[in-house]
Amino acid sequence: MSSALLETPLTYLPGIGPKRAELLQKELGLQAWEDLLYYFPYKHIDRSRLYRTSELTSDMPFVQVKGRFVSFEQMGEGRKKRLVGHFTDGYGWVDCVWFNSQQYILKSVKLHTDYILFGRPSVFNGRINLNHPDVDPADTLMLSKMSMQPYYQTTEKMKKAGVNSRTLEKFTSTLLRQIPPASIVDTLPRNMLARLCMVSLDEALRMAHYPSTSQELTQANYRLKFEELFYVQLSVLRYARLRQGTIRGHVFSRVGTYFNSFYSNNLPFQLTEAQKRVIREMHADMKSGRQMNRLVQGDVGSGKTMVALMTMLIALDNGYQACIMAPTEILAEQHLATFRKMLGDMPVRVELLTGMVKGKRRKSVFDGLQSGEVQILVGTHAVIEDNVQFANLGLVVIDEQHRFGVAQRAKLWEKNSTPPHILVMTATPIPRTLAMTLYGDLDVSVIDELPPGRKPIQTTHMYDNAPEKLYNGINAQIQEGRQVYMVYPLVKESEKLDLKNVEAAYVHLQKVFPQYKISMVHGQMKPSDKEAEMQRFVSGETQILVATTVIEVGVNVPNASVMVIQNAERFGLAQLHQLRGRVGRGASQSYCILVTKYDLSKDTRRRIDIMTETNDGFEIAEADLRFRGPGDLEGTQQSGIAFDLKLANLAKDGQIVQLARDMASEILDADPMLSSSENRILVDRMRYLKRDEMDWSNIS
Ligand code: ADP
Ligand code: MG
Repeated sequence: MSSALLETPLTYLPGIGPKRAELLQKELGLQAWEDLLYYFPYKHIDRSRLYRTSELTSDMPFVQVKGRFVSFEQMGEGRKKRLVGHFTDGYGWVDCVWFNSQQYILKSVKLHTDYILFGRPSVFNGRINLNHPDVDPADTLMLSKMSMQPYYQTTEKMKKAGVNSRTLEKFTSTLLRQIPPASIVDTLPRNMLARLCMVSLDEALRMAHYPSTSQELTQANYRLKFEELFYVQLSVLRYARLRQGTIRGHVFSRVGTYFNSFYSNNLPFQLTEAQKRVIREMHADMKSGRQMNRLVQGDVGSGKTMVALMTMLIALDNGYQACIMAPTEILAEQHLATFRKMLGDMPVRVELLTGMVKGKRRKSVFDGLQSGEVQILVGTHAVIEDNVQFANLGLVVIDEQHRFGVAQRAKLWEKNSTPPHILVMTATPIPRTLAMTLYGDLDVSVIDELPPGRKPIQTTHMYDNAPEKLYNGINAQIQEGRQVYMVYPLVKESEKLDLKNVEAAYVHLQKVFPQYKISMVHGQMKPSDKEAEMQRFVSGETQILVATTVIEVGVNVPNASVMVIQNAERFGLAQLHQLRGRVGRGASQSYCILVTKYDLSKDTRRRIDIMTETNDGFEIAEADLRFRGPGDLEGTQQSGIAFDLKLANLAKDGQIVQLARDMASEILDADPMLSSSENRILVDRMRYLKRDEMDWSNIS
């Protein structure tokens, strides 16, 4: 069996002794042959093309030439001391320049012998130079093999120990020669490969390292990415189906006094149709006898808080407790205040639990939860700590936590013998592919309507060299009774970053606006100070709030009509959209002003343009996805169900994610328990991939 072969420790590979094995283990976490096999190159360079020296120009990327050194010359003094090798291929000349390793080059490179040079051309004193080129003996065997050369990521420590990309290349080529052809057992069923026209695992792994053409590399990547994503989807979907099939939920059959009396006496506005529909969808879930796991997506300002509160009242009507978790203390405080205000004199006990709630107050909350007197708990992550015990928790609402994945949700199950219903709420910008992975096991409801009377926020872009205009605008709004947010990227002045900061702005703005009061909030303040400052703004005592992005999500002060974001070039689209969502929450016209430095990169300019052109969270989410660079896998690691994605990129491989999902659900439709012999391979592989993960037995 080749799988046993793949478990061979790396020390058994020719060229790797105990020292190098230890280095590879420490630096890259590689232990067995299999690990090395799955340590893919980060790029390949096409070395099939040889240039003539006479063709080279300084605007070419890496090039390859074949010829001979005619002489070496040491030139310059001190730091400019360099070795220059004069090289010709019979068509022209290039000068190779080394500032380092000069002795090594002199010793190892021979004159009048064929070499292949590989480097990036530049021009110096009117001559073409190659600085520190790769120099390889030009044996034809190498040429024919080296059409696509792999480049492997290495660390500083590895380089110091003489293990660079080239060394790894030797290791992987040795490894692939040690593994007999076509012997790697496939991890996908044969019929699936045939249907999707995919290469076998054996071929894919070999081609991922040593493709002979760029098409082969594409084929290999396609297959390997698909496989990664397929197992994620299979796992997510299987979990969702098992849950639906086997896990009982509390039955919230009634809508009773709490809900009804709130609806008729306390509701300060008419619900939007979208809000009503989503509440109905959730009620249908919660009375079905199955556990609800629902994601409610609604753009900023769409009124998710009210939906949460009314859903919690349904839990109360059925004799259960409910809790809501917010990502920040500020937001938890705000929810507490909102709920208490909305509930007015209704007999509902709502309490707060955050890291700040200590001593007697904490004990009283704990006691109240255990006795069942506390009916609604509002908090931060503190809520899922092990020592928090409820009498009868029936519903958990998770507000705006992009990273609250399956594993964290699973923890909530310990809070009651039957798991509570779960409602996850999020404003859009969350790319669909990410949602499919992170929340792939959830049912989705969408609040696709904003409360009536909202005027779209006007967004403008300003450079930071004309603050008077900005201050005049701010002044005019405050004169009309409105309030203003000003957001900064830093708390304090930084030596390294030339960016604006909250503390300096606080001092400066007091001089600019001596007639107004200003609050300041940032993450380095004591929680109680933060709360007090925030409260001054909420109550209208202060007109301006200077803050870092701690106010990014959720904060709701409807009277605030201006959001100024300083150094807006530093923020991503999703973040800008969230920040902008802090205004436009009341009936008055609101403004968002993006202030940037003068010279902007092309990408930043496009981001700013998108922000000024649209208020639509879905559009912004899509644009965000297009901008995301490779490797930006925010959230997947925490999801607890997504394995490390080595090749696939959720931002870029959307189509493969979809294909993987379709295939996974097709397979589960036909064989829900994956019990057929042909699906054996899938079960084995999932078990293998999850070998280091938490125990899911209480779920499946
Ligand atoms: P988000 O969805 O961003 O969490 P919030 O729940 O904070 O939005 O609601 C934004 C604002 O809209 C709040 O001031 C809230 O009271 C108000 N609101 C919510 N629903 C309605 C509605 N149906 N009609 C009018 N105002 C509403
Ligand atoms: Mg909210």
